[in-house]
Amino acid sequence: MSTSGKIHRGEIPSLTIIHYPDPRLEEESTPIAEVDAGVRELVDKMFELMSAAQGVGLAAPQVGIAIRLFVASARLEDSDRRVYVNPEMISVEGAQENEEGCLSVPGVTCKLKRGNVVTIRAMSLDGEVFEETAEGLLARIFLHEMDHLDGRLILERMGTVARLANRKTLKELELEFAGPDE
Ligand SMILES: [Zn+2]
Repeated sequence: MSTSGKIHRGEIPSLTIIHYPDPRLEEESTPIAEVDAGVRELVDKMFELMSAAQGVGLAAPQVGIAIRLFVASARLEDSDRRVYVNPEMISVEGAQENEEGCLSVPGVTCKLKRGNVVTIRAMSLDGEVFEETAEGLLARIFLHEMDHLDGRLILERMGTVARLANRKTLKELELEFAGPDE
C-alpha cells in the first residue's frame, strides 16, 4: 500500500488481514521514519484485527502496509499488548520445535524449528529504543513476525511433507485469491 513508509490515515479503518498468495506478503518492508498519529492508529487497528482472529502476533505487511512494525500478545490479553517498530535481530540461541500457524495462511499449521531465546532491538510507540529478550512462544513470535518484514512466510520454512499435508488448503487459498472468475 505504501513503499515510502507513509500511512494514509483514511485507509486504516478498511484494512483487513491479507492472505497467501497475495504478492504483498512477499515484499521486503521499509523502516518507519517516525512514529506519528497514522502509525498509532495503524497499531490500534492491528490489535483489533489480531484479537478478532485470536492471533498472538501480526506484522504490518499482513494488512498490506510494507513498513517494519509488528504487534504481539503472547497471552492473548488486552493487558499484554506489545509493539515493535523497526525491530532488529540481536541474537538467536537454542532451539524449539512447535506447531506454528499464520493469520495470512489460514487453516495451515506445521511443526517448525525455531530459536528458543531471541533478543531484538526495537523502538516503542513513544520513540524509545529498547532491547528485549524473549523465550519460548514470544521468541517464536519475534522470529515469525520478523520473517514477515522480510517478505517470508512459514510456507518457505515448511518441509515437503508439511506442504503435501496442507496442499488442499493452499490450493483453496490460491483459488480464493484468484477470484470467482478463475
Ligand atoms: Zn504470520
